[in-house]
Amino acid sequence: MTPLVTPPFAPRGGTADEDALPELFATTELGLTPGDYAELLAGKGGDNDSVAVHVRLPFCPSRCLNCDHHTTVTHNSEAIDEYIAGLEREISMVTDRIGRGRALNQLHFGGGTPNYLSDTQLVQLMDVIDRHFHLHGDTEASLEANPKRCSPSQLSLLHGLGFRTLDLQIRDLDSAVQLAIGRSHSLSVLEDVIASARGEGFESVSMDLVYGLPNQSVETVHGTVTHMIGLNPDRIMCQTFSPRPSVFRHQRALEVEGLPSLADKVAMFNTANETLMGSGYEWVGLDCFAREHDPLTRAKHAGHLHRNWVGYTDRDTGDLFGFGADAISQLREANVQNKVQLGEWHEALRRGELPLCTGERISESEQRQQAALNALLCNLELSDYEDLLEDSSLLKELASKGFVEISDDKVSVTDYGRFALHQRWSDASPHYRTALGMALAS
Ligand code: SF4
Repeated sequence: MTPLVTPPFAPRGGTADEDALPELFATTELGLTPGDYAELLAGKGGDNDSVAVHVRLPFCPSRCLNCDHHTTVTHNSEAIDEYIAGLEREISMVTDRIGRGRALNQLHFGGGTPNYLSDTQLVQLMDVIDRHFHLHGDTEASLEANPKRCSPSQLSLLHGLGFRTLDLQIRDLDSAVQLAIGRSHSLSVLEDVIASARGEGFESVSMDLVYGLPNQSVETVHGTVTHMIGLNPDRIMCQTFSPRPSVFRHQRALEVEGLPSLADKVAMFNTANETLMGSGYEWVGLDCFAREHDPLTRAKHAGHLHRNWVGYTDRDTGDLFGFGADAISQLREANVQNKVQLGEWHEALRRGELPLCTGERISESEQRQQAALNALLCNLELSDYEDLLEDSSLLKELASKGFVEISDDKVSVTDYGRFALHQRWSDASPHYRTALGMALAS
C-alpha cells in the first residue's frame, strides 16, 4: 500500500504549543467569569435537550512516564472520597441551574484511571450521577480502564451500573516500550479481561495505540497492532505522543531513551493504518479504526458521525458538561475549562463558586464555523460550506496548507490533511479539541 503521506509536513505539537500551555492554564483574565458562566447555565434552565457528561477522575496508582494528563498518584482512598464529595457539589451547582434529571446522550468516565476507584466509590459516584441526570438504556456510557485493575467482579459491577463501552488503556504491547514508559500489560491478562467484558455484556471494547514513544519502531508498532487485532476489539484509537517536558516534568526521563523522529512517526502511523485496514477495520474520522458492525462505522456510512471533546460519537450529543479538576465543558455558547490543580478546584467549590480556570464565549458565527469544521472532520466532506467561507478565512487557510480541497460543490479533506489533522486532534491539549479551528488557522 502506498503510504498516505510522507514527511515533511506541517509540524504539530512541539515548542510553539508547549509555550502556549501556561497561558491555557492561567487562572486570571477569564473571558468568562464564574458569575458569567452561572448566568449562562441558568439560561439553559428551560431546555429539555439531552446532554453529555464527562467526569474526570484524576487519580492513578503510579505514574506513566509519557503521561500528559494532570493526575495525582495516590494510595489515599480518602482523597478520592473527598473528590467524589466535590464532584457532587459541582454537579449540583450546574444542575441547580440547567435543571435536574436531564437525559444523558453520553456519559464518560475519563482519567487518570477511573477503575482505580473502589467498588464502593464507583457506586457512590454513579449514585450522584443518577440523582442529577437521567441515565437510560440508550445512553452511550463508557469508561477508561487500566486492564490490570479490571477484575471480573469489577466488570460485572460496571456493567450493572450501566456502562456498555470499555476503553482499555493500552498504549503499546511491546515489552521494551512498556518498560520505557512504566506500564505493563500481558496478552494473557488482556485476553481474560476482554473475555470477561464480553461475558458481562459490554457492547464495545476499545483499545488505544500511542505512537511516538521510546523504543518504538515500525516493526514494534506492526507487532503491537497485530496483537491487538488478534484480541478483536471493536475499536482501536491511534494517537500520537507529543512530549511537553516543560509542563509534565516526568517526561524528561523519556528523553534519555530517545524518541522517534517525525518521519518515524509518519511511517508508524502508515503501518498501523495499513495493518488495520488490511484486517477489516475501517478508518473512522481522524483517529479511530472500527469494525464494520461498530456504531461509529455505521454512523460514518450514514453521514451522522459526530465528535466532541471526549471523542467520536454516533450521535449529536448536545452540550457536554465536564466535571472535576481540569475537566472541559463544551457548550453551544461557550468552552470552559475547570481549574487544573486539585486544591484550587476544591477551594473554588468550598467558596460556592463554579471552578473555572478559563472560559470563552462562542459567537453565533463561531458556532456555525465549529459545526461546519466538526462535520468536515467527521465525514471528510462538506457540501454546505458557503457560510463558512463567508464567516472566516479558515477554509482558505486549510486549503493553502493542503489539508482540504475546495471544488465547486464541496470541500474535501485530502489524504495529507487527514493525517495532519489527525496529528493535531490526537494532541492531548484541550486547546486543540475545543478550539481546533483557531489552532489550525494560526
Ligand atoms: S497516562 Fe493515564 S494511567 Fe498513566 S499516569 Fe497518566 S493518567 Fe494515569
